[in-house]
Amino acid sequence: MFEKTKAFFKNVKEKLSKTSDSLTSSITEVFKVRVKVDEKVLENLQENLILSDVSYSSSEKIISNFRNTIKNIESEQEVTEGFYLSFLQKEIQSMLARDDLSISLDAPDIAVIMISGVNGSGKTTTIGKLANIISKEKKVMIVAADTFRAAAIDQLEVWSKRVGVDFFYSDNKDPASVVFSSIDKAKAIQSDVIIIDTAGRLGNNEDLMNELSKIEKVIEKQNNVTLVDNLIVLDGTSGQNALSQIDKFKSRINLSGVVITKLDSTSKAGFAISASYDYDLPIKLIGIGEGINDLQPFDPEDFSKALLGLD
Ligand code: GDP
Repeated sequence: MFEKTKAFFKNVKEKLSKTSDSLTSSITEVFKVRVKVDEKVLENLQENLILSDVSYSSSEKIISNFRNTIKNIESEQEVTEGFYLSFLQKEIQSMLARDDLSISLDAPDIAVIMISGVNGSGKTTTIGKLANIISKEKKVMIVAADTFRAAAIDQLEVWSKRVGVDFFYSDNKDPASVVFSSIDKAKAIQSDVIIIDTAGRLGNNEDLMNELSKIEKVIEKQNNVTLVDNLIVLDGTSGQNALSQIDKFKSRINLSGVVITKLDSTSKAGFAISASYDYDLPIKLIGIGEGINDLQPFDPEDFSKALLGLD
């Protein structure tokens, strides 16, 4: 269901060109300085990684692996053109690779996907695109549990009509109650999958965190429903700020993965490495535009190559 299109790699590479331009021009410059990489070059490389929104701890990991590899190089002949860049790409790929990258809808009963993230990160758009993909094979219901923003409910309804899936909202102002009622409704109309939108006032808001945690508990306590994914949506243009959002949300709800949006318009996509490596979360989906088909499964090899402008 979540298969990459043939044009995927070309597409992502093109879209990520803003990040790769800023990262590779500086990194290639670093590697041009000398063929032999020494501590000065490594220092420069680390600086450039951090400038591309890779966190300090992820950059440390990359640099220390570089150092170990360099130690084992016996002659300069081993260092062919592109050796270091390709090494860097493989390092990044391995920090992003894991076996739980895909969205699994395998549930004995109704599969629930909960979506959180700060306002403006792209939750509504992601839910619309995701519902569109899943609805090709399953009966989907979108639930509007952001009870604070009437506009958010309207937008979500527009998306559900556009992709032709069921939509649930309620006048009840308590999000956990809305979710509770939506599950009853889903059982009654025999939905296969429920996608729940949640409120996204800033993550340091204690009420919001309590609310999210209550929604999670309501889902977990219900019979015949399984919370298959609990995804945080991060705006790709927010760089390392996105990492502090993971920090806040992860401390209160049991996140299972990350969606990174707006990768078509960012030069800060390096934070994806740290979302995966520092926070031990799979990146499951990426948004590469505002269109209905601009949601793609995440592929560590393609992404790391695109990040460095490699073929
Ligand atoms: P929400 O407040 O988290 O629900 O965010 P929205 O889904 O309303 O998205 C906020 C803005 O970001 C809207 O203008 C969307 O069209 C835009 N947006 C969402 N995803 C993407 C994406 O992958 N690429 C681009 N360029 N824009 C996006």
